[in-house]
Amino acid sequence: MESQEQSRTALVEELMQRFPEVPREAVIKEDLLRGGMAFDESALSDGGDVKPKSYFIFSFDHRTLPELGAAALNRPPEEVVLTGGPYELRRTVVSVRVNPSSPYRVRAGEDGSLGLYLDGHRIADVGVPPMPDYYRHTLANGKSVMEVAPTIQWGYLIYLTVFRVCQYFGAKEECQYCDINHNWRQHKAAGRPYTGVKPVEEVLEALELIDRHDTAGTSKAYTLTGGAITSHIGGKDEADFYGQYAKAIEERFPGRWIGKVVAQALPRDDVQRFHDYGVKIYHPNFEVWDKRLFELYCPGKERYVGREEWHRRILDSAEVFGASHVIPNFVAGVEMAEPFGFTAVDEAIASTQEGLRFFMSHGIVPRFTTWCPEPTTPLGKANPGGAPLEYHIRLLQTYRATLEEFGLSSPPGYGPPGPGKAVFSVSSFMDSLPAKDD
Ligand code: SF4
Repeated sequence: MESQEQSRTALVEELMQRFPEVPREAVIKEDLLRGGMAFDESALSDGGDVKPKSYFIFSFDHRTLPELGAAALNRPPEEVVLTGGPYELRRTVVSVRVNPSSPYRVRAGEDGSLGLYLDGHRIADVGVPPMPDYYRHTLANGKSVMEVAPTIQWGYLIYLTVFRVCQYFGAKEECQYCDINHNWRQHKAAGRPYTGVKPVEEVLEALELIDRHDTAGTSKAYTLTGGAITSHIGGKDEADFYGQYAKAIEERFPGRWIGKVVAQALPRDDVQRFHDYGVKIYHPNFEVWDKRLFELYCPGKERYVGREEWHRRILDSAEVFGASHVIPNFVAGVEMAEPFGFTAVDEAIASTQEGLRFFMSHGIVPRFTTWCPEPTTPLGKANPGGAPLEYHIRLLQTYRATLEEFGLSSPPGYGPPGPGKAVFSVSSFMDSLPAKDD
């Protein structure tokens, strides 16, 4: 056990040495995102002062809620911020993905201050997000702001999962790395409040509280998202369903936040409706580049739209939003998931780079989320350790090089880039790009 634990530190340090152009902060952050972190009781809040993990769309945990025990009852923080330690980390915001068996552990040191420990050695000071004022208020019907309009990225982004399930349903349609439908079921089973379809009025009421109490103006953007809608909800198709929220928000708070929507790659007329409703940034996520893996991992997307059509629609949407405001996501790491993924890091990087070049040659800058192998998903079950850390580090290097090759820079709506400055918490791509103002 000891040698295995030691090897994690050795792996991290070896990669820091081999890839000195990738910030050390990003190496630690990617390792935490792909493999999670454990929390000592001493690091768990009993509620009150620390902003708790909101489970804003997927579980992003390595265990189910019943398996997490205390780490589920006393919620861990939404994010942690790392600084200092032997690697002299600059301020690094990391989304919390709980894994009780991770070699990374957050606990209080002898002086009571929280630290991040790897293989038993303290490697960073840990800060936790304070409970925002707007979380201390409830809607008239008693619902919490955290349930209706949680914020992530250290308060920068209001995450509006207005439809908590996906109409791609079951093994033949759900994306193979996605636990949105399971996360819905587990929160319901635990008796937690978890609104399936959020009424527009509730969203507006929660935003009103944020607007009033976020006096520092930390919140800068909102994302409208949820599952794919293949038929209708309340008589509305996907563009009108998600668009109605943007319309209401922009009428009530014109220009207060940058509006974004994550949805399927829709036909151009539908995309135009998103734009007309007031959405500024469109995320038609392509998930994984390789054709065979897309067909295997995203059977719903393949069935309802198809890979080539999905890509064509992404390019078309640039004519509506402008290329810089079309930002498709991919799930970094699933390229290497067993049993179907690439087995060599070189091949996985080459495939993903082909996709980056395809979009970037049209001025479209994709971004990524580091894959969290959630245990109830087919890919998570088969790959509890996620993808190799080397893949993630080389992806950061390749991403930056490809961006520079096409003369592009970091996408809008993600806060500032640069080590020590980035707030984007579910990947370190923003930590790895040169600093500039958002
Ligand atoms: S489209 Fe795929 S990734 Fe998105 S919510 Fe549905 S199953 Fe999950």
